[in-house]
Amino acid sequence: MKEKIGITTTVPVEAIIAAGFAPVDLNNIFVTSNDCQGYIEAAERDGFPKSMCAWIKGLYGACMINGIKKIVGVVQGDCSNTASLTEVLRLRGIDVIPFSYPHERSAENVKNELDRFMKLWGVDLKSVEAVRASLQGIRGKAILLDELTWRESKASGFENHLYQVSMSDFNSDPEVFEGELDSKLCEIEDREADEPRLRLGYIGVPPMMADLYEFAEQQGARMVYNEVQREFAFPRAGYAKNIYEQYADYTYPYDIDFRLKEIKKQIEERKLDGLVHYTQAFCHRALDDIIIKSRIDIPIINIEGDKSDRLDARTRLRLEAFLDMLCDRKEAL
Ligand code: SF4
Repeated sequence: MKEKIGITTTVPVEAIIAAGFAPVDLNNIFVTSNDCQGYIEAAERDGFPKSMCAWIKGLYGACMINGIKKIVGVVQGDCSNTASLTEVLRLRGIDVIPFSYPHERSAENVKNELDRFMKLWGVDLKSVEAVRASLQGIRGKAILLDELTWRESKASGFENHLYQVSMSDFNSDPEVFEGELDSKLCEIEDREADEPRLRLGYIGVPPMMADLYEFAEQQGARMVYNEVQREFAFPRAGYAKNIYEQYADYTYPYDIDFRLKEIKKQIEERKLDGLVHYTQAFCHRALDDIIIKSRIDIPIINIEGDKSDRLDARTRLRLEAFLDMLCDRKEAL
């Protein structure tokens, strides 16, 4: 069995796989666990403050509880707290390999960082490109699942979220994951189309509370666009000439203008009625909401999650009111 390498977010897994290891996204272990709260509490027992994002605590808990010995920590371009988290993990004896998305998204900067990363794993461009080519089939299937959501109204918003978010590490085994995706696609393709009353986009970090999707569907609304999850699946990788271009075209870690350009394109293409912008309590990315609301011209609701993996009553009420408003607006147009 291959040794598991924890990753704190999406990183060039092609290099890790080429080196003979199995990437495991600590976020996915945390959020799909039956004991998310246990992971958070493990971090708090070890000194993590209450006023720290639950995802960071979850990553720590996932690493310690699952016996992960080595991780890739993204110390620039993703989360300002991860750099500090990696220091604590080092203190606990975890081997940390840093990776940075360059502040300035230039081809040269991305190439320099990727070359450094490949060197750390002892792999060359040829072997990494071979892995990249081998993953293209799965990436194509994720695009198909996305189209079954927004174009054909057959896949649910949650299925769209789940399978795309899992593309950050392919559930540690691309072959097995591809088989699961194949079965899911067959099941979805056999369904009748079910056009939702409202077409929503979900932007921001993936939610702590996955019941958000079910709640929206109960109100006749479907998330037909999951922004960051879709980026994890690299839908434009097929157009990238090499791994450098692929990772330079990944919107999430770079500047907000680059991200907004893709969001606006998807709003048009998918004919979205409104956006749900999710932010996490104690996360610096909450400030993005100010910019996003000033630059997007369809209705946006900002919802904030903290430790709970269920929507609270206040958020349900706010969402209900938002969806009612969107229905009235749509009928009036
Ligand atoms: S939600 Fe924000 S603070 Fe928390 S891990 Fe993600 S980027 Fe970092």
